[in-house]
Amino acid sequence: MVSKAVTLADPDPEVGRTSIPVISVENLVHRYENRTALNGVSFEVRPAELFGLLGPNGSGKTTLFRILSTLMLPTAGRAVILGYDAAQDAAGLRRQIGVVFQAQSVDPKLTAYENLWHQGHLYGLHGAALRKRIAEILARVGLADRAKERVETFSGGMQRRIELAKGLLHHPGVLLLDEPTTGLDPGARRDLWQYLRILRDEEHVSVLVTTHLMEEAERCDRLAILNEGNLVALGTPAELKSEIGGDVVLLDAAQDAALLAEHIRARFHVETAVLGHQVRIERESGHRFVTDVVEAFPGEIQAVSVSKPALEDVFIHRTGHKFWSEGSEEDSEEPILKKKRR
Ligand code: ADP
Repeated sequence: MVSKAVTLADPDPEVGRTSIPVISVENLVHRYENRTALNGVSFEVRPAELFGLLGPNGSGKTTLFRILSTLMLPTAGRAVILGYDAAQDAAGLRRQIGVVFQAQSVDPKLTAYENLWHQGHLYGLHGAALRKRIAEILARVGLADRAKERVETFSGGMQRRIELAKGLLHHPGVLLLDEPTTGLDPGARRDLWQYLRILRDEEHVSVLVTTHLMEEAERCDRLAILNEGNLVALGTPAELKSEIGGDVVLLDAAQDAALLAEHIRARFHVETAVLGHQVRIERESGHRFVTDVVEAFPGEIQAVSVSKPALEDVFIHRTGHKFWSEGSEEDSEEPILKKKRR
């Protein structure tokens, strides 16, 4: 073993958490032949943190997830979890993590208990200790009373919770989940997030979850936002949104958005961004500004909106373009079945 496992330091009395990162991603690069999927990404995940990796399709989330879960080696850089280097000591690292992949890994013909029993054996757990742990973990994911039922009779949300239980059976310090709510209805999604928070708070597990949904990213303690393989933002959702001064004003141009933006810049000396047929402006007291603009350019504006900054605005602020390009899948409450190349 090249790297040595660290012992977590004493908790910080201020926050009750340790300051040594549980996941450390250092300048991570990954190339598939001539395509760069990760372009020097660095961030840290702290103990008992619910950390989100947010990015549109193709931004590199799955690539990073695969490197962290030791399925793939990075082209350059390092990923270290609880002191174990993913490239140097994959076996050691695997013992520290629980992984929930997008694809189903439970056997639907077996009961919840049997699924966990087999999983326990894979990790060298047996007998009374395993029985006790299965009971504990089923209670933790709210399925203690369904232990003897076949998983195929469970709802999608319950099946995901069995996946969670499988990932947690061997007491990992870190849980990695790849878009865990894909295919779940909004109620089941909320439920799953509730369980992730319970795991963080009561089992003190650090959770890294990938998502392409803003509403889920909002629920994370901190976020790394990826775009085309680059880390474009890092912080709590509130910190990230607060970097946008004031309100976000969106103006639908009656004709040419670029021309309208030029007129607004010349007249009001503000920065503008053109997003399709819309002009976007970040501005204090947006409602007053909108009145002035509409009066200044009658007939050039079809519709207006003023809103407080959202994570989507952080993405636009940092990248200059929308999270979802025109014609792509929309960010919605509805389950999105992603088309993957793999
Ligand atoms: P995400 O999970 O955010 O959708 P991915 O990590 O799957 O992003 O993809 C990042 C980039 O790498 C994309 O440009 C994608 O087309 C490319 N990519 C992913 N997997 C492969 C692969 N097996 N071979 C070649 N390119 C790939």
